[in-house]
Amino acid sequence: MLYLGIDAEVDLPHHMILFAKDYKKNVDEMTKEMVLSADPSIYVHNPSRIDPTLAPQGKSALMVLMPVPNLQADINWETEKETIKEAMLKRLEQEPGLHDIRNLIETERIITPLDWQNDIYVYKGATFSFAHSLDQMMYLRPHNQFEDVQHCFLVGGGTHPGSGLPTIFESAKISSDLLIKQYQHKERIQKTLNTEKGVKMV
Ligand SMILES: Cc1cc2nc3c(=O)[nH]c(=O)nc-3n(C[C@H](O)[C@H](O)[C@H](O)COP(=O)(O)OP(=O)(O)OC[C@H]3O[C@@H](n4cnc5c(N)ncnc54)[C@H](O)[C@@H]3O)c2cc1C
Repeated sequence: MLYLGIDAEVDLPHHMILFAKDYKKNVDEMTKEMVLSADPSIYVHNPSRIDPTLAPQGKSALMVLMPVPNLQADINWETEKETIKEAMLKRLEQEPGLHDIRNLIETERIITPLDWQNDIYVYKGATFSFAHSLDQMMYLRPHNQFEDVQHCFLVGGGTHPGSGLPTIFESAKISSDLLIKQYQHKERIQKTLNTEKGVKMV
């Protein structure tokens, strides 16, 4: 993921996806061969197109995303991240109005799967958690109530029903419903809290 502070108002839509010429090859390289694609796809987010407060006047704040393999791949992210940044900028420069983008960069930040793992403990840097393959989707994902340890509930992208924000909110709803059901609704939870904190509730 590459954040770019650009010293110009770029003429880009709010969202844009630049597909690889051979998209199937690109996906196979990412998910099966676990290598970086020479011909990648990238997504470009230009939020100030719809909300000017998201970049200083006359400037743009772009988020450029390149899907890549997670840390199961044998990739040295410390050395490869410059190569990847170069590939992303090269691809952007091919777009009308962006040929000069490199000279307009005021600030930049690149985040790799290694950073996801090191900085916020994302396992294997896999931000979407378990792949959404048929054998581990929906009911086949780990269940919200942990099966081996009592009183343990799971929530989030690695749990039923799956990753992506709408699905994760659903996962939170399922887990909280299970909690309420298991602990017989809030009176019992409140009673426990009151006992622990010595607080009286009405
Ligand atoms: C670049 C990018 C773009 C995306 N775009 C979209 C999109 O457009 N739409 C969409 O629906 N989804 C999108 N996603 C996916 C979505 O963001 C994730 O699926 C979602 O955030 C996962 O939520 P989660 O609660 O399961 O985990 P996370 O959001 O990863 O939250 C887990 C939290 O737990 C913390 N944590 C980890 N280990 C510990 C520990 N031991 N102790 C305490 N805390 C810990 C972490 O620091 C983190 O804050 C995108 C993801 C990325 C990376």
